[in-house]
Amino acid sequence: MKRMTDAHCIFCRIVAGEIPAERVFEDEHCLAFRDLHPQAPVHLLVIPKEHIASHAHAAADHTPLLGHLMAAVASLARSERLDRGYRVVGNTGPDGGQTVDHLHLHLLGGRAMGWPPG
Ligand code: 5GP
Ligand code: ZN
Repeated sequence: MKRMTDAHCIFCRIVAGEIPAERVFEDEHCLAFRDLHPQAPVHLLVIPKEHIASHAHAAADHTPLLGHLMAAVASLARSERLDRGYRVVGNTGPDGGQTVDHLHLHLLGGRAMGWPPG
């Protein structure tokens, strides 16, 4: 049977309320909270409530969920008043710089971003 949560996963524990976080939005499928170590004036993490280890682990039947996460990011950018734009980052795997193995999108804004990323 497919595992929906991982008891050892820090983000699953945030979803469950076992670890505190500054939650800014949630619905049935996703949760957004402020990053503990913000890299911009606005730095939110948007995650599925279901445990998916990374973007690379998403299955075909997760496609609506992935779209839902992107739509949530756009909505959060509006509520955070990021009128000048923002950046969405999905670090994936070791070369992608992923440090927490639960799929998440970073929403970064409130300053101009550099390119290329590090
Ligand atoms: P990654 O490096 O995997 O793309 O992003 C993981 C992010 O999670 C990092 O930006 C890190 O600061 C954030 N983070 C790690 N642990 C916690 C935590 O316990 N609470 C919150 N709010 N953010 C966390
Ligand atoms: Zn998890």
